[in-house]
Amino acid sequence: MRASAVVLTGISALALSACGPSDTELNGHGASGNAAAPPAPAAVDSQRLLAADNEPGEWMAPGRTYSEQRFSPLKQINDGNVHELGLAWYFDLNTHRGVESSPLVIDGVMYTISAWNVTYAIDARTGKQIWRYDPQVDRDRARFLCCDVVNRGISAWKGKIYLTTIDGRLIALDARTGTPVWSTQTFDKTWPYTSTGATRVFDGKVIIGNAGGEYGVRGYVTAYDAESGEQLWRFYTVPGDPAKGFESKAMEMAAKTWTGEWWKQGGGGTAWDAIVYDPELKLIYIGTGNGSPHAQAYRSPGGGDNLFLASIVAVRWDTGEYVWHYQEVPGDSWDFTATMPIILADLEIDGKLRKVLMQAPKNGFFYVLDRVTGELISAEKFTPVNLWATHVDLKTGRPAITREARYGTEPVLLTPSVAGAHNWNPMAYNPITGLVYFPAQEHWWPFSIDPDYKVPDGPAQRTSTGTGGPMTPKRMELMKLADSREKGWLTAWDPVKQKEVWHVPHERAGNGGVLTTAGNLVLEGTAARTFAAFKADTGEKLWEMPVQTVPMAGPITYMLDGEQYVAVNAGWGGGMAMAELRGGRGMHRSDARVLVFKLGAKGELSPLPDRPPIPLPPPSTASKEVIDKGADLYARTCANCHGPQAVSGGVIKDLRHMTAQTHAMFNDIVLKGTMSGLGMASFANVLSESDAEAIHAYVIARANDEWNR
Ligand code: CA
Repeated sequence: MRASAVVLTGISALALSACGPSDTELNGHGASGNAAAPPAPAAVDSQRLLAADNEPGEWMAPGRTYSEQRFSPLKQINDGNVHELGLAWYFDLNTHRGVESSPLVIDGVMYTISAWNVTYAIDARTGKQIWRYDPQVDRDRARFLCCDVVNRGISAWKGKIYLTTIDGRLIALDARTGTPVWSTQTFDKTWPYTSTGATRVFDGKVIIGNAGGEYGVRGYVTAYDAESGEQLWRFYTVPGDPAKGFESKAMEMAAKTWTGEWWKQGGGGTAWDAIVYDPELKLIYIGTGNGSPHAQAYRSPGGGDNLFLASIVAVRWDTGEYVWHYQEVPGDSWDFTATMPIILADLEIDGKLRKVLMQAPKNGFFYVLDRVTGELISAEKFTPVNLWATHVDLKTGRPAITREARYGTEPVLLTPSVAGAHNWNPMAYNPITGLVYFPAQEHWWPFSIDPDYKVPDGPAQRTSTGTGGPMTPKRMELMKLADSREKGWLTAWDPVKQKEVWHVPHERAGNGGVLTTAGNLVLEGTAARTFAAFKADTGEKLWEMPVQTVPMAGPITYMLDGEQYVAVNAGWGGGMAMAELRGGRGMHRSDARVLVFKLGAKGELSPLPDRPPIPLPPPSTASKEVIDKGADLYARTCANCHGPQAVSGGVIKDLRHMTAQTHAMFNDIVLKGTMSGLGMASFANVLSESDAEAIHAYVIARANDEWNR
């Protein structure tokens, strides 16, 4: 039976080239019934997860193993034959929004999560859908997402699949049917929280943080009982109002590093991605986010380190009790999160085997920490230009922050930017080459304090981060300069010597996460809308295939019936597409898909539909005063999703290209939530009728000006 399924898969892959993008049901048609369902789907427990290397054909956790190395011991596909890689099948995710998760593959079933938290179980041989679960996320929540309606992954435990939703639910699904077993609300929805991270499961506990550091929230991480959803422990990453008492000694300690009334604006420190379990040391490492609001002047006006912003914090796995911390960015004012992927490894450093963790966060330094003690072993710059800090003092662990990085109300062009020298895109460590691979970038941003920032008078009012401010001619000029300097590349980094071994330049920034294998391979999606394979030891490009969109997520690999597959979620979006100037420019809004490759397959994607013609904008008739007011309001309220300068990054429709019909509805969309079903909530609580008109006038002016075509 299994042998015939392989043959039929080959035929169905050929048939796929004729399939329309919405023919999800037809994916893999012809092979149905051959793959006998395993008796217990997602039958994953501690024993299996701890011994994941004994089952290299499975991908049972977001980073494959608890070390999150994203290294696969599989080598049937290798540097000698990867040029024969082809599309085995694809699965349409029915969205144009960003997809940032890595699928799981357990006993022949693939589980994956897409935009708006829609979750799927798919036959990993054939691409045939087994079930689909739509949590019906509150679309208005998109207003509090800086970086698209994404999710970074799901996890599995004893027959259940765990996901978090943008509106803060943690949901356990029956892995056989996709029906919810339990659901719990993880945050107070009156605050502008969201949740986009990958869930992780360990020892019967499921753990999740949250997001919202751009809008004013207080970060924390919570562990729940995987069977019941009952809350087990919670660790806050920043202190709350001291008058209410501290939850722990750690919060009491942290509060000494803050000034003013930070709790009124949340403080930030949201853990929206890296939360890593260390079964050896029984610790959880939490990567924490930026300060909220961004500018420290408005958050902690007397300065201070503001613990535990932009830190790695180790807590006990069973109680959430604080053990150690290392702060990468004291007193963050740059949106420099430390939530980027964390990898655990044992490395020989100066003749000693050290238990380390590694991270390459936004601030552009590659950190190696002793994970037993939190001691900083080394930190080096991984981009050629870093105007934020000259070096990290290994004695004190503190960065030598440059004078120019201490910006004021006058904009200063700095790199790394708010998008970072490396962002959430997964990195991978190959124990054979000893190298860490990740997409690095040189990205610039004009930082300035917004002189007109006002502390909001209540939660969920927030539209600004305390930085930026009006789009002055100076700021405009710097934005263009930032645009022209943008670069992206794949880097291979030696974490012991702390230096780059090779790099492959890419067309632009915003490239995909990475997988590395024992076949001497690195696999990565590129911003040129391709999926590519490189030699892990030298960086030589061995194979590349155009795939119509950017596979931003981390690829995975698995083995079924003796055949190795490579899979990746491909769907451009996320922060680079929402708030980016150049990264997504000219990007075709394309269907997101799961792409699955194997040797010798010849499947093809159906061709992209023609782009609709760009409608002519109405003439720009408003006064300069109104347009300037609109530009200012736009920068504070709209730019996070619709792009600075009203230039789309290829995920949301470009506002300059609105149809006459959309122009006619403009105020209703902005103030009455006419398009809230698409994620465009009403902004009536922060914008008046005349504000909306001014923003409209600005968008029309932008559609008429030089940058338009
Ligand atoms: Ca942020």
